[in-house]
Parts: sequence; C-alpha cells; structure tokens
Amino acid sequence: MKRLVVVSNRVADLSRSAQAGGLAVGLADSLRQRGGVWMGWDGQTLKYDDQPEPRIRKIGTVTQATIPLTEQDYAEYYLGFSNSVLWPLFHYRLDLVEYKSVFLDGYRRVNAKFADALTSVLQPDDIIWVHDYHLIPLAAELRQRGCNQRIGFFLHIPFPPPEIIAAVPRHRWLVESLLEFDVIGFQTNTDLGNLQHYVEDHLGCRMEQDGRIRIGKREVIAGCFPIGIDVDAFVEMAEKPNEEVAIETQRRDILGRKQIIGVDRLDYTKGLPDRLRAFARLLELYPEMRKTVALMQIATPTREEVEAYVEIRKELEALSGAINGRFADFNWTPVRYIHGTVPREALAALFRASQVGFVTPLRDGMNLVAKEYIAAQSMEDPGVLVLSKFAGAAEELREALIVNPYDVDDMARNLCRALTMPLEERRERQAALMKRIRKHDARHWLESFMAALERGETQHAA
Ligand code: ADP
Repeated sequence: MKRLVVVSNRVADLSRSAQAGGLAVGLADSLRQRGGVWMGWDGQTLKYDDQPEPRIRKIGTVTQATIPLTEQDYAEYYLGFSNSVLWPLFHYRLDLVEYKSVFLDGYRRVNAKFADALTSVLQPDDIIWVHDYHLIPLAAELRQRGCNQRIGFFLHIPFPPPEIIAAVPRHRWLVESLLEFDVIGFQTNTDLGNLQHYVEDHLGCRMEQDGRIRIGKREVIAGCFPIGIDVDAFVEMAEKPNEEVAIETQRRDILGRKQIIGVDRLDYTKGLPDRLRAFARLLELYPEMRKTVALMQIATPTREEVEAYVEIRKELEALSGAINGRFADFNWTPVRYIHGTVPREALAALFRASQVGFVTPLRDGMNLVAKEYIAAQSMEDPGVLVLSKFAGAAEELREALIVNPYDVDDMARNLCRALTMPLEERRERQAALMKRIRKHDARHWLESFMAALERGETQHAA
C-alpha cells in the first residue's frame, strides 16, 4: 500500500484527535493505519523567512511536517486571497470580495513554499491528497518541481457557477491549476456541475458522464464525494449523560418549554441574522408560541481580523438584544446567544435535548452540524431538522424540513411545523435521515475518494 501524504492549510492536532471533528479523526485514523505524512502550516507567523525545511515530528506511524508563515504570507495568502477573495466568492458573495493584487502574489508564493517543503519529504511511491481552497495551485507547483505522483484534491466549500468564478482575477489560471490534480472531489453534484460548465464555457473541454475531463494529453477525474461524520462516535457521545445539560433540560420540561438550537462558526455564510429574524417572526405570527420555546444560538468566533466578520458579530449582538428586549418576560428569555465554543460532549447532549435543529446557511459546502444533529437524536422522541436548501447537506437530507434561508416567513412557518410535528412523522423522518448519514459517513467519504485516487474508480453523478 502506498504511503499517504495529506496536505492542508493547518495540520490537525493528532495528539488530541478525540476532541476534533470527524474529518480530522477519519483522516488521522487512515494515516495511522497505512502510515503517512500530514503537512501544513504550524499556525506560527514570523517576521522573516528563516526556516526553509519543514519541522518534522513523528507521532506513532504518522509524520507531521509543518512550516511557519511570515506575517506577510498570513496577511496576503491567508487573510487576503484565501479568506477575502476565494471564501466569499466561492460562497456566492461577490459583494464581500476584497481583492488586492498582492493577495494573489501571496497566494502563489505560499503555494510555492508548500511545494518546496513537500518536495523535501516526498518519496517516489507516495500518494498525495490536498485539501481545500487555500491550496488550489499546489499540484501545478509540484508538477513544476518534477513530482509525478498521483495527487488528489478535495474542495470542502462550494464551487460556484462560471459567471461567479469569472469574477476571480486570473480565474482561468486558477481553474487550469485545479485541473493539474489527478482527482478533484466536490461535496455535491451542483458543485461538480459548475466545474463542468466552467470547463465547457471557458476551456473548450468536455466532462464525460463519469466525470473524466481530457485536457491535452492528460486525463482528470472529477467526482462528488459528500463528506460525512463518524455516526457511531457521535451517537455514543449524545447518549452519555451530561449533568449540566440534564439539569437545564429538566427545568425546561417542568416549564413545558421547547428549545431550538443553532451551532455555527460566526461566519456570514451561515445566515445567522435572518435565522434570528425568523425566530422573531415565529413569535409574531404565532403568539401562542411565546414562552413555550427558546432559541439557543452558539456562535464560535472565527477570522476576526477580516472586517466582514466584525460586522456580522455586531449585527448579531444587536439583533439578539432587540428580540429579547421586545419579547422577553421576567421568567422567559427567548434568545440565548452564546459567542463562544462548547465542548463536543456538551454539544452532542444539547443537540439531543433540543426539539429543533435550525441550520440555515445562505451557502455551505456540506454543513456537518446538520448531520451531527440527526446523529444525536433519540429514536423514541426525535427532534426535527430545519435545513437550508443551500447547504450541501440538503442534496442528501431530503427528509429534513427544507427552507429558503432568505425567506424569513418560510423559515418561521417551518419552525412552527417542526415544533408541532406529530411523533410518528418525526420518527419516520429521523429513521430515513439516520440511514442517509450512515450511508455517507466519514469512512465512506475517505474510502471512496481514495478509491478514485488510487485506482481511478469514478463516482457517477446521481
Ligand atoms: P464549517 O466547516 O463551515 O465550520 P460545518 O458545519 O461543516 O461548518 O462544521 C463545523 C464543525 O465545528 C462541526 O463539527 C461543529 O460541531 C463544530 N462547531 C461549530 N460551531 C461550534 C461551536 N460553537 N462550539 C463547538 N463546536 C462547534
């Protein structure tokens, strides 16, 4: 079996993998089993470049190879091109793109730096798997350095239609670089279809039914590999008694109150302001719901050095305050807004204790929270998932209540429907959804991508 080399912007902390999400755990397990390397940025920023070689740390069968970035790299490659150009653009938010030509220079420079570092650890028989939008030009950089190993790429975020991609400066270069990988994986068939449209409209190539694209003498395979979670691990976590959550739940039970839960990074793609407005609309449209339900929104701070993230935080704080000011009573707080992170064990227990999972991104690659909420439910008395049609997960999770995250009234009506849904219907939906998340779990994602990368097996568009 060939040695697997995983490359991503950041390296997961392998020594604490039990704490991390399904992806890191799944990848780490796979690396441990076959032996491998994980390469990425170590999270340090230096004033000047002074370390051309990656720092090597061996943890069991896995070798971690990390490099620092300079402050300039961090500003231009990470905050700049990755998170102020590609992130908003790939999430269909042209209005939030902030482009400077130095961002593109920094992006190319850091990808070259990754390629240099990687070249020093690569062996001829390795197989390489690169992750996400930070590293689209990496295969092209590696090829220029004579690397002819098989290289795969998985895009964790959406891939937008050609009209939107065309707003990226040097978009043709970007997509041509993407096509230097041997296998390109997307979360959904919509994303895959968008690549097909781009290569047909801008590059004059065809994508075959099975995802093969011929460019010059090379052949690339593109496919849809929806990412999943480790379902059993999450079920186990949700079933474990959690004292603090249990006390809180008992209190709610005595008062006969229900809970709607939202859990996200505090990102403008997650549709948080309209989610809060939809909850307020529920209380307006159905006054009988007042004092019977509360919304708990947990929002983890993220990328606070980018201006758009400062704005969204202010907006949410103002909105949750305004809703509470308007509706709260001395013994009922309608919105509990938590700007922070909750340990995974508590999160699983909170999901289980919440009657509605409210997941309404304006655009999302997949959205693992939706799958975690399903995994956490009990079959005796399951909650209901209310899910945005623009989450990648909506392509699979058809038994959720699917909503338009731009339509506050539609979300409010579906919240009401979820809160009043008969037990039998909840059970039917839960059973169907559970089957789906089990079918496309973390292991399936990993194995199907590796099959494409190692053996050229393709995924048929559904
Ligand atoms: P994204 O990758 O855009 O952040 P996902 O929903 O796909 O969105 O994955 C987010 C992961 O981070 C999930 O595993 C989720 O449980 C976890 N997470 C998100 N927000 C929080 C939070 N506030 N506290 C704890 N964990 C969180």
